[in-house]
Amino acid sequence: MFRFFFKSTIEDPQKIQITDKETIKKITKVLRLNLGDLLNLFDNSGEEYEVRIQEISGKKIICSLVRRLDINRELDIEINLYQSLLKKDKLEWLCQKATEIGVRRIIPVISENCVVRELNLNKAGRYKKIIEEATIQSGGKMPPIFEPAVSFEQAIRKTSPRDINLICHEQENENALRDQLERTGRKKINLFIGPEGGFSQFEIDLARQNSLLPVSLGKRILRAETAAIVACFLVANT
Ligand code: SAM
Repeated sequence: MFRFFFKSTIEDPQKIQITDKETIKKITKVLRLNLGDLLNLFDNSGEEYEVRIQEISGKKIICSLVRRLDINRELDIEINLYQSLLKKDKLEWLCQKATEIGVRRIIPVISENCVVRELNLNKAGRYKKIIEEATIQSGGKMPPIFEPAVSFEQAIRKTSPRDINLICHEQENENALRDQLERTGRKKINLFIGPEGGFSQFEIDLARQNSLLPVSLGKRILRAETAAIVACFLVANT
């Protein structure tokens, strides 16, 4: 069944009007769906419906409700990925993989050792498109929120001592991420991943002073993007 993200809230599921040009093009030109065909629509509220195409024109597609779908693939834990900016376009790859895993937010962080010192705002739309497509593909209902880039200090201030705040650090030998998860239960996790050159000692000290716990992902030193996916997956599935 083809799934589509309805970019605003579906007010009346009995009669849904699709006006998003890209979605209309995909339905009519790419998939060549016709009157009477079925498709699934989900919106940002987490609702998903099976609908039937009633009317098709170049500017709008009107669908009627067949049934509300009660599939929930969202995680029962909120993961906020605080990802230091990386070289080249690893962030695109990361947005896709973190979305598949089910993170709630992706917050780009400019930490001391970042080679890339600012987010290319022209690419913000691209990141959002990648996130939307990965949400559709993975069966998710709530595309992760891609936030504006912040400094490391600003990122720390966005966390709360009530949350589980973890900073992945390859020099950490005591606390393993997995053990922390078993100890602290499942609620809201803020997960910090460093850049290719890792976090500075100043950043690790500042993190500790602000109730972020350095955690290890094991003895091997992982690439930042690998560490992000491994950490998110462990949090999502432990
Ligand atoms: N500075 C390190 C070095 O040059 O050996 C490498 C940093 S690593 C490539 C990038 C980021 O991935 C780190 O800042 C950390 O967040 C995460 N990371 C990689 N391996 C890790 C491990 N074994 N345990 C915890 N975090 C790890």
